[in-house]
Amino acid sequence: MHIVTTPVARPLTAQERTERCAAPAFGTAFTEHMVSARWNPEQGWHDAELVPYGPLLLDPATVGLHYGQVVFEGLKAFRSHTGEVAVFRPDAHAERMRASARRLMMPEPPEELFLAAVDALVAQDQEWIPDDPGMSLYLRPILFASERTLALRPAREYRFLLVAFITEGYFGPAQRPVRVWVTDEYSRAAAGGTGAAKCAGNYAGSLLAQEEAQRKGCDQVVWLDPVERNWVEEMGGMNLFFVYEAGGSARLVTPPLTGSLLPGVTRDALLRLAPTLGVPVSEAPLSLEQWRADCASGAITEVFACGTAARISPVNEVSTKDGSWTIGAGAPAEGGVAAGEVTGRLSAALFGIQRGELPDSHSWMRPV
Ligand code: PMP
Repeated sequence: MHIVTTPVARPLTAQERTERCAAPAFGTAFTEHMVSARWNPEQGWHDAELVPYGPLLLDPATVGLHYGQVVFEGLKAFRSHTGEVAVFRPDAHAERMRASARRLMMPEPPEELFLAAVDALVAQDQEWIPDDPGMSLYLRPILFASERTLALRPAREYRFLLVAFITEGYFGPAQRPVRVWVTDEYSRAAAGGTGAAKCAGNYAGSLLAQEEAQRKGCDQVVWLDPVERNWVEEMGGMNLFFVYEAGGSARLVTPPLTGSLLPGVTRDALLRLAPTLGVPVSEAPLSLEQWRADCASGAITEVFACGTAARISPVNEVSTKDGSWTIGAGAPAEGGVAAGEVTGRLSAALFGIQRGELPDSHSWMRPV
C-alpha cells in the first residue's frame, strides 16, 4: 500500500534528539512522525499517509471514546551492532491486531497496510534509535472507531495510527528482578470475554489491581483464571514462564492460551527458541498452590515474565493474601546477577537475534 509522505519542515538535530531520549520514561520520547490511514465501507482502507506527529481533532461523539472499539499493538525496532535497523516479528503483530479487530467487530487492517506503515515510519525516524544496545524503538499501532455517532453498533468509520517512541524497557535499563502480587479480588478477563484481544478496555480494567500490587510493595499484578481463580494466567503486560530443573536438565512451562490471556509474540518466540537451546517446553496449567509448592521443594528454580516492552524480566518474589515466597535464590545481592541461568540463556538468545548478533534462523527480523 502506498503511503503519501509529508515530513516535518525542520527535523530535530542529532543533539535535540539525544536530549529528548535521555533516560526516557516509558511511552514519552515520541519521534517526529506518525502514520495515519482511514477506513469506511465505501472506500475500504484509504488516505494512508506519513505526517508530522501531532494531536488529533476528534468529535466528542467519536464512537471509540464511548464504547471502547479500540485495539492496539506494541512491537519494537532494534539497531544492530553494525548499525542496521530491523523490526521484530511485525507479521505476527499484524496478525494479532487482525484477531483483536475481529473480536471487537472492527475492520481488520491488512498485513500489507500494517507492514507498509511500520516500514515507512521506521525508515523515516530510524535516526532516532540510539547505538546503545539497551535502547530500542517501540512502535504503537492503534485502531479505533472514528465515526461520529452514539448509536450502539459497530462503527462505520475507523482510523489506524502508528506512532513510535524510544525506550529502554519497561523496568528500566537493567534486567531487574520483579516482585509480583497475585490478586484474588480482581479478574482481568471473563470466560468468553476479550482477554485474548489486545483491546484498550482490558488495560483500563487492570489498573486498580496494578495499584493494589504497588500498595503491597510489588511491581506487577499476576492474574488467575477468571472462573476458578486457581490457575496462574499472566501478568499485567507480560506472559509467565516457569523453569523446572531436575537431574541437571531444565524444562520450561507456560500457561496455555485459554482465551482469557494474551497470546504474546515474545511467548511464542520463546516456545520456538527454547527447544533449539536444549530446553524443552510445555504449555500446561499451573495452580497457585502448585507454584508455591514447587518453589518450596526446589522443583521450580526460576520464573520470568516476557513481553515486548518488559523484555525478559526475572520474577524473584511472589506475594498473595496468604503470604509470600521467593523463587530460587530470591533477590540477588546488590550488583549481583539478576537472572537465573536458564532465564539468562534465553534472554541472551532472544536479544542476540533482535540485535543482529546471532543468526536470525527463524526469519523474525524485518530489515528496514
Ligand atoms: N500479556 C499482556 C496482557 C500484554 O499486554 C502483553 C504485551 N503486549 C503481553 C502479555 C506480552 O505480549 P508480547 O510478547 O506480544 O509483547
